Amino acid sequence: MSENLATKYDPDKVEDKWYQYWKDNDFFAAEVNEDKEPFTIMMPPPNVTGQLHIGHALTMTFQDILTRWKRMQGYEALWLPGTDHASIATEVKVVDKMREEEGLDKDDISREQFLDRAWDWTEEYGNTITNQLEKMGVSCDWSKERFTMDEGCNEAVKESFVQLYEKELIYRDDYIINWCPDCETTLSDIEVEHEDTAGKMYHIRYNYKEQDDYIIVATTRPETMLGDTAIAVDPDDERYQDLIGQKVILPIVNREIEIVADEYVDSEFGTGMVKVTPAHDPNDFEIGQRNDLEVIKVINDQAKMTKEAGRYEGMDRYECRRQLVDDLKSAGLLEKIEEHQHSVGQCYRCDTVVEPLVSKQWFVAMEELAKAAIEAVKNDEINFVPERFDKVYFNWMENIRDWCISRQLWWGHRIPVWYCQECKEVIVDRQEPDICPSCSSTRFKQDEDVLDTWFSSGLWPFSTLGWPEKTEELDYFYPTDTLVTGRDIIFFWVARMIFMGLDLKDEIPFSDIYIHGLVRDAQGRKMSKSLGNGVDPLEVIDEVGADTLRFTLITGNTPGNDIRYRPEKVEASRNFNNKLWNASRFVMMNLEDFDLAEIDYSQLEYTLADQWILSRLQNIIKKVTSLLEDYQFGQVSQELYDFVWREFCDWYIELIKPRLYQKEDESAYQTAQYVSWMVLDNILRLLHPISPFITEEIWNHLAAKEDSIMVADWPRPDQLMLNDRAERKMEIVMSVITSIRNIRNEMKVNPGREITAILTSDDAKRIEILKEAKGYISDLATIADLEITKELANRPDKASTAINEKIEIILPLEGLIDLDKEINRLEKDIEEVKYEIERAKGKLNNEGFVNNAPDHLVKEEEEKKQEYQEKLAGLKERLKELKA
Ligand SMILES: [Zn+2]
Ligand SMILES: [Zn+2]
Repeated sequence: MSENLATKYDPDKVEDKWYQYWKDNDFFAAEVNEDKEPFTIMMPPPNVTGQLHIGHALTMTFQDILTRWKRMQGYEALWLPGTDHASIATEVKVVDKMREEEGLDKDDISREQFLDRAWDWTEEYGNTITNQLEKMGVSCDWSKERFTMDEGCNEAVKESFVQLYEKELIYRDDYIINWCPDCETTLSDIEVEHEDTAGKMYHIRYNYKEQDDYIIVATTRPETMLGDTAIAVDPDDERYQDLIGQKVILPIVNREIEIVADEYVDSEFGTGMVKVTPAHDPNDFEIGQRNDLEVIKVINDQAKMTKEAGRYEGMDRYECRRQLVDDLKSAGLLEKIEEHQHSVGQCYRCDTVVEPLVSKQWFVAMEELAKAAIEAVKNDEINFVPERFDKVYFNWMENIRDWCISRQLWWGHRIPVWYCQECKEVIVDRQEPDICPSCSSTRFKQDEDVLDTWFSSGLWPFSTLGWPEKTEELDYFYPTDTLVTGRDIIFFWVARMIFMGLDLKDEIPFSDIYIHGLVRDAQGRKMSKSLGNGVDPLEVIDEVGADTLRFTLITGNTPGNDIRYRPEKVEASRNFNNKLWNASRFVMMNLEDFDLAEIDYSQLEYTLADQWILSRLQNIIKKVTSLLEDYQFGQVSQELYDFVWREFCDWYIELIKPRLYQKEDESAYQTAQYVSWMVLDNILRLLHPISPFITEEIWNHLAAKEDSIMVADWPRPDQLMLNDRAERKMEIVMSVITSIRNIRNEMKVNPGREITAILTSDDAKRIEILKEAKGYISDLATIADLEITKELANRPDKASTAINEKIEIILPLEGLIDLDKEINRLEKDIEEVKYEIERAKGKLNNEGFVNNAPDHLVKEEEEKKQEYQEKLAGLKERLKELKA
């Protein structure tokens, strides 16, 4: 009933073939099925124009393991794939391409012309990443594939914007935002990367209006001074009580500004006085709001100085800084310049120094949304795995600021807001209004901005299932079960899906969040282009196959922690697959006359080895299942590795070989066939979620009841087969066999040589066990004459012995080795060692050496002497045994 497997495992011949087969048979598809419980994972959408990297390979492996496992457990398992439009990243790439190939800038073409190019780009590169994902063996339902900018997602975005606006959770306001002058777009707080930079602190004199004196104000960005509208002091600072309300003259500009009191100022820091530039600093913006200060914008969107900057108009911000500092110097208003280390915000995409600017933006009000999102994790509706990430999440959510969602880009979801061109009425709606509700005009202009990419990603768990329509899929598959993602996007993405889901769907988006770490190089460094230490998953698949890559990535993996990618690990995973292949070949070669349908179960007689392996199998099934429930993927692979390699291949298969070869006893022969078939079948099922291709190939040769192992049942432990006694007995037997093998090794006994052995113990039970396992011990330790006895009548005078598990193992030396030859060898060794000891002693007694040689050499010599002396004692002991 089994066909022979190819002699050697070749992933090339197997992987693409099975992937196509699975797709052709719709095995990845999930449908609404009221008879089954759903299990849903939404694939975190990779960038549509991206390339598969090792981080994708890792996250996809986890998701595929969970999906395949749940599918086999009988769930209606949906893993929904998709890609993300990645607003900024894609727009930057399209702009670059336009410049390069057409010599055009964004200003040279219309929005529509730009979008045509962006869509072309998306179509050209969009399939790359999905095709690459297939090579990993992902079992996601491609028929449900989505794109964050497809029509359905666009409907969801418009609907959610309108709903949040109507609940007054979206508003438009002047606000200080992070601005990238190069990308010319707003950045959210988390898109700004802070880097410690060597800069300068400029101390500038501001003269009082009324008195002939001045105050000193320090700043790292003197050009912003041109937009100062106040000086602030700590309201409790006794030094400055009299100054509050007084006026100073802003240098160069000669504008009168007032000294105000504000809690933000720290009297301990610097002079205890700060300049306030509401238009160009987030803290100053808030001081301005509290004190009703004027907002004067002196830097524009291209980081050039505005008209308000007077004589500096048109200069770049740094050019202005140089000029202004010179001018202050000449006017005698520059007190000093100090070197100063400070943190500077940079654009996460292009590293340009971010300029805080005030402008009209759209915001999501976070207070209420955050509260609900915190609650859902606090009351365990949503669980982070590992749990420690909830602290990271709480810390961020509890200190969250309103989320600026407008981006000055073209590629993305355009904000569904129209401005009446007559009366300036703002209309928020799902489509362009026909008529202005306040002035009846029909002329509108849509907001130019698009939404932050994460706005649409935040809707991913339900927009992909048809929301805002009330679809059957949405009803059945939502809330989803597990989100698998890296810790770097807990804020960007995870948190946003949670509050969007809670608000718009009134339900959590997922119950578990499995956080995984990064894949680092062998030395623990981050993989990067500049270090050139990246690993291309497609190259690895080409060389060793996807199964080996998958196994490697989860080996040693623990939730939340980084792993190192080591060539030795890849080698070990490949060896494991080869071991599995060869063991399967062996089992199958002995199944040629075996027919499951013809088995007479009542005739099967399970030996100790059979009982043992069947019991071990039940325990492994239990263990692997519960480890998967806890997301302990690293331990799952370790358990399976050990069980397959050690217990099944090294022990069980060796133990049944005599039965299979001799075929003396029909029932013993059939039982060995049946048990080896059954254990292998279960091993393949347990391994399938990790290594889908090799298991499918072997399983199909073995005995396929179903069309594919991926739709076969997940093993369930059979309580009747659990047998602690058999496991304990086999432990004793295996330890005795191992002890005998060790002695044979030490004595350098030819592996094929059949020897004599005596096993004795005071414990009657152990004697019974040994007698039951006599055949195993004889076979696996190559013993011709095995005596098992409670009462040892004649102890052989020359023997090597060991005691293990309260059993004394006695190997008479006669027949084991050539006694005279061995004595000769030992005597020769003893002479050599003695000579070495004398040599070392001579050196150590030589005062010239001891006094003049470096310490470590003297120490080395002493250690050598010590070692030789120990060796000598051992050799003498052996010689005594032999001569006894
Ligand atoms: Zn930028
Ligand atoms: Zn109007």
